[in-house]
Amino acid sequence: EVRLVSNDERDEDTWQYSLRPRYFKEYIGQQKAKENLSIFIQAAKQREEALDHVLLYGPPGLGKTTLAGIIANELGVNFRITSGPAIERAGDLAALLTNLDDRDVLFIDEIHRLSRSVEEVLYSAMEDYALDIIIGKGPSARSVRIDLPRFTLVGATTKAGALAGPLRDRFGVISRLEYYKQAELEFIVTRAAEILNIGIEPEGASEIARRSRGTPRIANRLLKRVRDVAQVIGDGIITREIADEALGRLDVDAVGLDRIDRRVLRSIIEKFNGGPVGIDTIAASVSEERETIEDVYEPYLMQLGFLARTSRGRIATQAAYDHLGIVNPHKEER
Ligand code: ADP
Repeated sequence: EVRLVSNDERDEDTWQYSLRPRYFKEYIGQQKAKENLSIFIQAAKQREEALDHVLLYGPPGLGKTTLAGIIANELGVNFRITSGPAIERAGDLAALLTNLDDRDVLFIDEIHRLSRSVEEVLYSAMEDYALDIIIGKGPSARSVRIDLPRFTLVGATTKAGALAGPLRDRFGVISRLEYYKQAELEFIVTRAAEILNIGIEPEGASEIARRSRGTPRIANRLLKRVRDVAQVIGDGIITREIADEALGRLDVDAVGLDRIDRRVLRSIIEKFNGGPVGIDTIAASVSEERETIEDVYEPYLMQLGFLARTSRGRIATQAAYDHLGIVNPHKEER
């Protein structure tokens, strides 16, 4: 099964690479985050200090990694990239940190997945630019302090709530990335088509934008798949008709929902009477991981107003019934 909506970008890394904005001026949208960050960056540069640590959070594909790279470029420093699960031991972290130059940016993706022991070492690194490492075992064990360069940690996570309080508190700047607006996505699709030398009509770009669930990574992916269809059954130019045909084949509906989104909604409506129903029950009933539902599917369904959270669980809204064309037997109550 081809997945358009997923956390996994490995297969498309190289392809995405050329599309990745390198400076603020190429980074579309996220006005608030951009404005704040550029002020802080300018101030840090004037003082010739490292930028304060930055936490970026929001659903996958909204541009956290891209923004972290831009921060490094704008600061004019090196960009080192790793992820929470990749740092297995405190020693791995120590190796990364001691190899940094002064004021470098270290990006840790999925920072909520750091192990507890690594996290604790990170605290003093962030706060004091030093590492306290225990050498040896038993009675001969002793603690050694290693000084680190002044660096900037940029952490990314899908949900800020998943972060331990003491870790969150050590970030001086916390920025939430928002879903992109239609016009911004149209711009992103058009820019990507230009870079990749793909012919596209404005209506084609607007159709792809509308169906990419507010997410640049998905917009780029859809563009790539639509291009294939344009090439094979059209004359290579992406028109609205070609985009519509291609997206229909991919099972992406008019508002960008895929099969799993619709299965989630259908399951709440048909198996659980519209809800409320717990997230674990939903995950089990559509055979997906709870984390995937929470990080990827639910935020967009909520953004569209198809799903609502209550203290007793998730409910499908009237808009969800309408979208799926199902009559709501409880219409009066909702
Ligand atoms: P995240 O780290 O949040 O999962 P990425 O930074 O990897 O997301 O972004 C995915 C892709 O989307 C990037 O490769 C880039 O091509 C595109 N992209 C993200 N944000 C923007 C933006 N603001 N403007 C243009 N393209 C963007």
